[in-house]
Amino acid sequence: MNILIVASECVPYAKTGGLADVVGILPKFLKKLGHDVRVVMPRYYVVDKEKFGLKPINCALGVPMGIIGEQWCGVYEATLPNSDVPIYFLEHEVYYGRAELYNVDGKGFIDNDNRFVFLSRAALQLAKKIDFRPDIIHANDWHTAIMGMFLKTVYKNDHFFAKTASVLTIHNMQYQGVFYAGLMDVLGIGLENWLDVEWMGQVNLLKGGIYAADMVNTVSEGYLKEIKTPEYGYTLDGVMRDKASCAVGIINGMDYEEWDSENDKFIAAPYSEINLSGKQSCKEFLQQKFNLPKKNVPILGIISRLVEQKGIDIIIEALPMILSLDVQMVVLGEGEPLAHELFLKTAKDYPEKFACKIGYDHALSHQIEAGSDFFIMPSRFEPCGLNQMYSLRYGTPPIVRATGGLNDSVDNYDEANSSGDGFKFYTLTPEALYDTVGWAVWVYYNTPEKLKELRIRGMKKRFTWEKSAIKYEEMYEQALIKHYHMK
Ligand code: ADP
Repeated sequence: MNILIVASECVPYAKTGGLADVVGILPKFLKKLGHDVRVVMPRYYVVDKEKFGLKPINCALGVPMGIIGEQWCGVYEATLPNSDVPIYFLEHEVYYGRAELYNVDGKGFIDNDNRFVFLSRAALQLAKKIDFRPDIIHANDWHTAIMGMFLKTVYKNDHFFAKTASVLTIHNMQYQGVFYAGLMDVLGIGLENWLDVEWMGQVNLLKGGIYAADMVNTVSEGYLKEIKTPEYGYTLDGVMRDKASCAVGIINGMDYEEWDSENDKFIAAPYSEINLSGKQSCKEFLQQKFNLPKKNVPILGIISRLVEQKGIDIIIEALPMILSLDVQMVVLGEGEPLAHELFLKTAKDYPEKFACKIGYDHALSHQIEAGSDFFIMPSRFEPCGLNQMYSLRYGTPPIVRATGGLNDSVDNYDEANSSGDGFKFYTLTPEALYDTVGWAVWVYYNTPEKLKELRIRGMKKRFTWEKSAIKYEEMYEQALIKHYHMK
């Protein structure tokens, strides 16, 4: 198949979350299955042309933007690192000539509607320009969701896309791309499609994208079930129920080359499930780095966007209780300014037990995964989640709220049957989190041999992209069948 994957971010070029991880790795595995896969994303200022070897393509790309008129952009090409998967970067100074991807100082850019409608339309224009006739266009999240709608409207009678089916992956249902109704004039999809995109009198790009796509998927099966309910659907639960026969859940794989405790350039000593001794050195390294004096206490790690989704409010409320235990905690993250303040204050109040770094730090994220004894993720909702997978691989049992991908990927510890690889709780309360941390800490102090077995079970678990890419392939085939029958 010819597959065109379009997204607003992709590792290693530009990343704010798990979306970039998926877009950076899935195409390589699809390629191994024999498909011709291409990726399209914006050329933000953070995408360094020299460092990543971007080469200009000799074409100026015209992109119809409805009432705004035709917009032009430059196009650069590279290949995804360690692969021959082409990736195209759209250069438009007004839309993408900024360092940040979506917002600055916590506020979304005022022209995010035009920036991502442009990306969605430009990717399709580019396919024509370079004569890459896609069997599948694969959109990701609200930024590019509307591509499916473009195919069904403005390109409906375009022979070039006659056989093209569309797929939309929802990495996060909370962000939907809701804009003023006048955006219809930029989209140019015709007023007869208003009801598909309309949401409280506004345009909802994700909603339109869900209705238009031949197939939709979420990044875990659990999350797919959840977003059909009002609690998790962020008002689009009804849309997901409507679309149920065209929706599947496919859990993300993780990158076992990047996250390999036997070959990790960032950590103090290598270790594996056969010989765990290096993990102790990683722990001591972390304790030294953050001046945590006491040696034989469990370290609880957190690496997260510090936002409500991740249950940061629950952690903050539970902190005094957790810190009353004989534990240490290391937090890495950035997000809500109030969370920054509270974590920094806690570090001052409990200098021997609690340390944090506010910011994004790739090396430190490896060091925390390797050096911690347990990893905390009390998410309110979690479409898939990657850090719990890294934690399992690094022998750092995750303590998670049983939701979405966390529930799917972690098996609760069962002492009687010597099974499970993490610790789960269900209700989203500080008390439930504290109780579960208390349980893990008890296991640490009272049954270290059992804990070792628990770590090893997690380290042996695999979430491979080989497996998930086959599921994507199956979904693409289903999309083609649905597209064929719709015509
Ligand atoms: P989400 O996409 O919702 O943020 P995921 O768990 O799916 O959550 O992916 C988050 C990714 O970003 C992981 O690779 C994680 O290690 C990384 N990450 C998040 N915050 C930081 C940070 N402050 N420093 C380094 N890496 C981070």
